[in-house]
Amino acid sequence: MNAMSKVKRLVLNVSAICCLACWAKSQPVVVKRLLPEHCSAPRPSSQPVTHIMIHFCSAVKQHPTNPYDLASICQIFEDYGVSAHYLIARDGTIYQLVKENRIAYHAGKGKLPFPPYLENSFNSCSIGIELMAIGTQQEMSAYLSAEEYNRLNKNHIGFTQAQYWSLSWLIDDICRRHPQIKRDRWHIVGHDQYAPKRKTDPGSLFDWSRIGLTNN
Ligand SMILES: [Zn+2]
Repeated sequence: MNAMSKVKRLVLNVSAICCLACWAKSQPVVVKRLLPEHCSAPRPSSQPVTHIMIHFCSAVKQHPTNPYDLASICQIFEDYGVSAHYLIARDGTIYQLVKENRIAYHAGKGKLPFPPYLENSFNSCSIGIELMAIGTQQEMSAYLSAEEYNRLNKNHIGFTQAQYWSLSWLIDDICRRHPQIKRDRWHIVGHDQYAPKRKTDPGSLFDWSRIGLTNN
């Protein structure tokens, strides 16, 4: 191989690496997978969206060895008549379950520990985002015994890098549509902050700093 061919090959390799880097940082895949309408309600057009709530979910109780099956998770939402606007899979794929102009049933009863409190009214002014994840043994104790938890595949516990990347992208995207949501911990909250006696998600394994926010 002459010197010029070597240079050309080097340039090609560098371009391929750059393209790969661009691809890795590109927009996540967003798939519409809307839940039936009994899982949500119309949002009045006069109601601004001011907050985002982060959750985790899985079908671990029903399917301990395959907790992240999309159909099983959506079936749980349908059976209980609950929902979130988005669900982020382990590979970072974002599923839209409810349109943003509808109220998703994700927060339930609770109260923010700071104004505007939004006591038992969080759903009407928020977007709910679920991440497919499993928390610590203590956080999962309402669903699994210690023996059941210890049998889980350890790779299924916690959050993936792809999920943090997609979540961060999704929050930016939502904030562009709803500018009253500020990118801070007063506007972007965890379910466990709102309903600490009932809920443990997204829990202690969720690293808020990975989406540019502070851990409390
Ligand atoms: Zn939750």
